[in-house]
Amino acid sequence: MNLVFLGPAGSGKGTQAKRLEVDYRVTQISTGDLLRNAVREGTELGKKAEPLMREGRLVPDDLVIGLIEERLAKGDLGGGILFDGFPRTLPQARALDEALARHGRKIDKVISLEVPEAILVDRVTGRRSCPVCGTVYHVRARPPKVEGKCDVEGADLVQRSDDTAEKLEKRLEVFRTEIPKVKEFYREREILAEVDGVGEPDEVYDRVRRAVEG
Ligand code: AMP
Repeated sequence: MNLVFLGPAGSGKGTQAKRLEVDYRVTQISTGDLLRNAVREGTELGKKAEPLMREGRLVPDDLVIGLIEERLAKGDLGGGILFDGFPRTLPQARALDEALARHGRKIDKVISLEVPEAILVDRVTGRRSCPVCGTVYHVRARPPKVEGKCDVEGADLVQRSDDTAEKLEKRLEVFRTEIPKVKEFYREREILAEVDGVGEPDEVYDRVRRAVEG
């Protein structure tokens, strides 16, 4: 099974994707994570992507598509793939279809997590994560046991540089213009499921599962 997860920053995509990964044995491919790795490692691509990511703007399609093709070529994708944060534009959606076809795969289902913008702002600006193990917290909704420290690693929690109100606004603006086209592309193929992303993670996950299996 190959899935696409659509949703703006703070929609809970990452959290829900982790659960699907366990239950459906799919491998999560997050372009945001791949890009952040490239930035950390200081690769050519990372150097090009870093200023755009810092501003909440999209990294050019050819770079992101290249990353996805590289990841697909590496194999080791088990029972399927869960694309998180990709495709974000119509050209990316088309390129994904072509790249998957070359690997004898296709997208089976596209889940779009729907969350009102007011909730996104609260979720994203309160988000903190552990730089060592990646565990994600929220200053109010999911605080660590000791303020500012990871429960698992004890490391100081960090805030992503693009998780501020101002940067988020830019990211949402990009999302509002591009994602409707991506959704339309999948709606026409009758593989789009819009899922209400408001509520406790368990509740939302029940809806996601139903959509995946429906
Ligand atoms: P995310 O972690 O998914 O919120 O992505 C963080 C940032 O990485 C985005 O704000 C973009 O700058 C960049 N990015 C991630 N995925 C894509 C994509 N599919 N296309 C273009 N830029 C992306």
